[in-house]
Parts: sequence; C-alpha cells; structure tokens
Amino acid sequence: MPARCGPAANACPRTLPTYPGRVPASPASPAPTGRVLLASPRGYCAGVDRAVQTVERAIELYGAPVYVRKQIVHNSHVVARLERLGAIFVDETDEVPESAVVVFSAHGVAPSVHEEAAARSLRTIDATCPLVTKVHAEARRFDREDYDILLIGHEGHEEVVGTTGEAPDRVHLVDGPEAVDGIEVRDPSKVAWLSQTTLSVDETMQTVAALRQKFPLLVDPPSDDICYATQNRQVAVKEIAAESELVLVVGSANSSNSVRLVEVAKDSGAAAAYLVDDVSHIDDGWLDGVATVGVTSGASVPESLVAEVLGWLAARGYADVQQVVSAEERLTFALPHELRRDLRATAG
Ligand code: SF4
Repeated sequence: MPARCGPAANACPRTLPTYPGRVPASPASPAPTGRVLLASPRGYCAGVDRAVQTVERAIELYGAPVYVRKQIVHNSHVVARLERLGAIFVDETDEVPESAVVVFSAHGVAPSVHEEAAARSLRTIDATCPLVTKVHAEARRFDREDYDILLIGHEGHEEVVGTTGEAPDRVHLVDGPEAVDGIEVRDPSKVAWLSQTTLSVDETMQTVAALRQKFPLLVDPPSDDICYATQNRQVAVKEIAAESELVLVVGSANSSNSVRLVEVAKDSGAAAAYLVDDVSHIDDGWLDGVATVGVTSGASVPESLVAEVLGWLAARGYADVQQVVSAEERLTFALPHELRRDLRATAG
C-alpha cells in the first residue's frame, strides 16, 4: 500500500516538500476544485544526477567550454542550463577540437567512439550510467560466448546504438513483440536477450514471452536490464493513474522513460495522460471535468519543473497535493574516475 502525504495523512514517512513555483493561497485564488496525486519516486535518477554533476564539475575544473557528445541526458531544460554554464553539445567527436575535453552522455557510447576520441587526442570523461555499462558488459560476455544477442529496445535510441556497438555482428534489435517474427539467428539454441534500461516493464515481458516462444532455449540476462529508476517510476505512476482523470508527465519527447510513463498511466486507468516539457505545454482544457490530476516526471527532469506545474495547478484550484510514495530511493553513483582523478590532483 503506498504511503499518502498531505493534509489527510499525518503519518507520512516522507516530508512533503515545499514548491517554490507553487502559487500561494490568497483571497484572489480560486476556491479549491480538485486534488493532485504526486507520484514518488519521480524525477532525477542516480545516473542522471551523476551525468549532470559531471558536466558542471568539468566546467568548474577545466573551464568553459567543455564539449558534450549528444544530450548529456534527454531533457531540453537541463541541456539549455548547461549550455549557459559553458557546455557545447555536439553530435560526434569529430566536431570537438583536438585535445579538448569531451564528456560522453549517460546513454553510453560504442567502443568505436572511444577509439575515435583517442585518435583525436581528446580528453574524455565517460558519464555513461553504470547501469548502462552493466548492459554493455553483458553484451560483451554473450559475444565472447558466441551467442546471438536479441536486444529489446527502440531503433535509433542512443543507448541502443551504444550497446549494439559492443557486438555489432551479433546484436539483433527487437523493437517490440511484433518484431519477433522477423528475427533470424545463426543457431536457435544459442540466443540470449538483453534490453534497453528505460523500457516499459510490461511490454518488455510480452516481447520476451514472444521471443521464448520462438526460441525456447533463450537465455536471460544475469539481472534486470530495465533499471531500478525506470521500474520505480512506472510502479509509482500506476499507483496514481487509476484515481486520476488526468495524468501529467513532465519530461521531454526524446526521453524514453518519460514517454513510457505516459503509456503506463493510460494502461493503468488514467482517462488521459500527456507528456509536457514544462508548464507552458499544458492546455487549460485538459482540466475540464477533472477532479484529480496525477503528476509525475521522468528520470531526467529537474524538480523545479514539477514545482512549476504544481504552481500552475494550484492557481486553478488544485492546491490539495497528496504525495503517493511507493518506494524510497537512496542510490548514488560516484563521479567518473577520470574526473575524480583530476579533482584529486587539483586539490592535492
Ligand atoms: Fe541510469 Fe536508469 Fe537513470 Fe538511465 S534511467 S541514467 S539507466 S539510472
């Protein structure tokens, strides 16, 4: 049973934060018309927090500009803020001047990208999330053991491109259950599956079931590839969706885990669910006839954007915010070792 925080639940294990963007109640404020169910966990995961801190600390340490290959995390507001601090985002390493500092994003890169960077004498800092690195290691091991690797994921997503690059001759992309029929392997008794870290848990299990029907000897990964943060945010949105006529998911359109939250909300009973990059993307008309609004955010979304959405809702009479807590998260990751080494050298 999830814990409820708010006026009606004094025994909440988690303090309801104050939201700087929230519009305070005042005589001019409208009378309360509805409530908000605020999913928890939501927002930044450990991998995103580490990646964003990596760029911030690199700019402090080496000075601007610091180059970043691809969006460090899939959120337009985070990217814009880091650009203001002195980050330059590029698509490929050949856009980075020789010997400059370049950060690889949280989504990971193929080994060929490391080789290209070394050939150009770039000073690389790898901010790949350790949970993505784990999937790369699994791909290398299955490759060494001569398996065909069925990688469940979305075509073109940076993480999928990076993982595929570990064993390009062995990896077959499986983009959902409907793609299973078309998969051909060398030896049906020697196949293993892996997945992108940010997929829908339920849809991935459907894809695995279809794969196993086609390949009964299919080998599982040693542990879940869909990461703890993706799973926790999907469980949390399920907790609020059934009671919400409308669910707002704060996140950018290229954020896989944010898009999945919209799908999970709809599948779990929300009458409507929308992805909004920020408060300016919300349509007043969505509130027509709505008593309960669910709010959550993807793993790359700063809490300030959620606070602005809560402020917008409060100004329209949805000031009763109840936080629904389905899990506590305490995981943190150390900064990349290259950065820690240089920070130590500077401090020493
Ligand atoms: Fe890592 Fe998961 Fe966050 Fe991606 S969503 S950065 S895999 S913790």
